[in-house]
Amino acid sequence: MADSANTSFFNDVCAFFDHAAQFTNHPAGLLDQIKACNSVYRFRFPIRKANGGVEVIDAWRVEHSHHMSPTKGGIRYSEMVNEDEVMALAALMTYKCAIVNVPFGGAKGGIKINTRNYTIAELENITRRFTVELVKKNFIGPAIDVPAPDYGSGEREMSWIADTYYTMNPGQLDAMGCVTGKPIALHGIHGRREATGRGVAIAIRECVDVAEDMKELGLTAGIAGKRVIVQGLGNVGFHTANFLSEMGAILVGLCEYEGAIYNSNGLDLAEVVAHRKDTGSILGFGGAEQEFKNSALGLEQECDILVPAALENQITASNIGRIKAKIIAEAANGPTSPEAADAFTQRGGIIIPDMYCNAGGVTVSYFEWLKNLSHVAFGRMDKRYEENANLTLVTMVEKMTGVSLTAEQRSLVIKGASELELVNSGLEDTMVRSYHEIRNIQKRNPKINDLRTAAFVGAIEKVAVSYMNMGIWP
Ligand code: NAD
Repeated sequence: MADSANTSFFNDVCAFFDHAAQFTNHPAGLLDQIKACNSVYRFRFPIRKANGGVEVIDAWRVEHSHHMSPTKGGIRYSEMVNEDEVMALAALMTYKCAIVNVPFGGAKGGIKINTRNYTIAELENITRRFTVELVKKNFIGPAIDVPAPDYGSGEREMSWIADTYYTMNPGQLDAMGCVTGKPIALHGIHGRREATGRGVAIAIRECVDVAEDMKELGLTAGIAGKRVIVQGLGNVGFHTANFLSEMGAILVGLCEYEGAIYNSNGLDLAEVVAHRKDTGSILGFGGAEQEFKNSALGLEQECDILVPAALENQITASNIGRIKAKIIAEAANGPTSPEAADAFTQRGGIIIPDMYCNAGGVTVSYFEWLKNLSHVAFGRMDKRYEENANLTLVTMVEKMTGVSLTAEQRSLVIKGASELELVNSGLEDTMVRSYHEIRNIQKRNPKINDLRTAAFVGAIEKVAVSYMNMGIWP
């Protein structure tokens, strides 16, 4: 495979696709249709600056595949964003949704700004105007294309998008399903905020629980005691680090854009975050044994698992030789270049590929969209019913056996599921099942030597079946 140094992110994704496609039996034309970005909308719009001036903003929305509707994918706010990157991320969304059986096509948006350079009012203007442009061109809607947060955007931006869309579509019953990642108070869903990180942690746990695979890496099975370095302390990185710590992993390293810190005995995540809030930097943290002003050096320290959770192209031909981890869990999209991935796999390492690893976010976005279409929170209708039924059963068993449960045991047994518990259950089931589906594809074909190829093979099969069933019309 080609190295990303000479090519583009979208070409990287296509190179991974082409490599996997040789293990499928589909005609070239169908593979071309799956691979292509169906619609690329590039637009520019003016906003009024706080100082009275006018600035022109570059933006994109790409719908990669319409084999399922709506299409779905986050909006990236970054001064580095460009058309190629948005196309690549949109394509990854198609494959990601297929892998975790979320019935959407892939899409992605981009707004070329550094959010730090704008006031909140300006960011609101940018976001609302971006949404208006999407409405004008029919690039947003609960049955058309449903954005979500990505790098540089979050619940606040999703609220502005939902409100703008609804204002332009008054009375549309399902309008709130036009975007996901909204706050709870504005038709969001419990568990969405931390869903991607929770999913990444579950993906890693599933991987390290397979004793046979860990033996090949010279590691013991199980997440407890595994040494982890996380790059990026944003939404995905923070929650991944938090859940991995809860599972018993040791957080030995953290990398942010201002630098990296390391302690072989473990870093306390909450303390690091508090320190960064106070000082504006992770550097200078008292609990670190070592710190690096060059953040990239943080990736090269001793650990079992490296979790890049910031941006693409962080692990390339130039640093892969110095990466000490045996597992790379791609929490970010596209953090490993094709050449680096090849080198890592050849020396026996495991890469948990982005398109599966960070799919927890879109999985819970799907649940949020379902909630918006049904206009009722999960568990609202049946929680009390379930509790009453469980209580009846417990009372009968107590009577029949003469054994009484303690109050604590009783409330544990009768408790009905909350929305958060249902969301987390659906998320865990999705991540666990998908991991083993991908691993089984790999194990079934000795020529497939990595999980990414296996994930692409699975995704291509599913998207191909949809396209073949749909046919071509007109
Ligand atoms: P975010 O904006 O919340 O956080 C990104 C973090 O990375 C920030 O703290 C930023 O300071 C840090 N960072 C930037 N450059 C860095 C560098 N060179 N070294 C170290 N840290 C750096 O973004 P996010 O939502 O957490 O997204 C991170 C990645 O995860 C992106 O690739 C995104 O596409 C992917 N992703 C996000 C979601 C989601 O639900 N938010 C879902 C799937 C995939």
